[in-house]
Amino acid sequence: MSKGGGGLCIRFWGTRGSLPAPGRDTSLFGGNTSCIEVRAGNQLIILDCGSGMRLLGNELVGTSPLEAHVLLTHYHWDHIMGLPFFAPLFMDGNTIHLYGETKQGMDVREVLSGQMIKPYFPVSMGIECQAEMPAHAVAPGDEFDIAGVRASCCRLNHPGDALGFRLDYGNRSVVYATDIEHGTKSDSHLEKLARDADVLIYDATYTEAEYEKLKGWGHSTWRAGVTLARSAGVKHLVLFHHLPERTDQQVAALEREAKREFEDVTAAREGMTLELPEGGRVRVLPDSEG
Ligand SMILES: [Zn+2]
Ligand SMILES: [Zn+2]
Repeated sequence: MSKGGGGLCIRFWGTRGSLPAPGRDTSLFGGNTSCIEVRAGNQLIILDCGSGMRLLGNELVGTSPLEAHVLLTHYHWDHIMGLPFFAPLFMDGNTIHLYGETKQGMDVREVLSGQMIKPYFPVSMGIECQAEMPAHAVAPGDEFDIAGVRASCCRLNHPGDALGFRLDYGNRSVVYATDIEHGTKSDSHLEKLARDADVLIYDATYTEAEYEKLKGWGHSTWRAGVTLARSAGVKHLVLFHHLPERTDQQVAALEREAKREFEDVTAAREGMTLELPEGGRVRVLPDSEG
């Protein structure tokens, strides 16, 4: 993982949607739920707190003091369940900034602390977590600065709502749009957010046939991702939020199908890194551990 300098570096710690899906049939694309590490210069930005966040936390324990900025698309369980197992929370001197929507009068920190109460979890966020966790309220249409990284967001159509984020750093950009159902007016907001982005990480939960039966469930397809990538002028499309039941073979087949329509497409793999140097093409390193 490159640190410092220009460009962006994006590493996938969790790629699955809805529920962790470990096992032999998912070991290639991964069983952990949504969590992505973005490095922009010396800044660490984390997109969602799915179960993949545990492994990221284990790698970060040696960094002290740690400053991280965590952006939450929404609070469905698959996007928050890794936070109680994120080791840097329990280390004095760390600062973990939390960014997300205020819901039912609760800020992002209050919402997240709701999963760390008895009898659901033995350790509470308020008492046992030693890291500082400032809450930052975010609403659709906001633009804000994260220590030199420009962040912007829009509403995504999803049950209970979600946010799509864009990060711009130097001349590079990544858009994270998961948990979205296409086909509403939020499509045009996302198209604007994704305009000319280097990378679009997109909810490709369903096949077209599955989607026909599951309209209203709040998810999209690789084909809708390709349509958006084309119309927004996106350079590289990443298919994300794989269905828990989807085997590696099936994800690989969907990736091949998508490649016939859009050359620069990759199905997200756990452990995969995308390197966006200041100049040149997006580089895909399928397994940065290997
Ligand atoms: Zn989800
Ligand atoms: Zn969701």
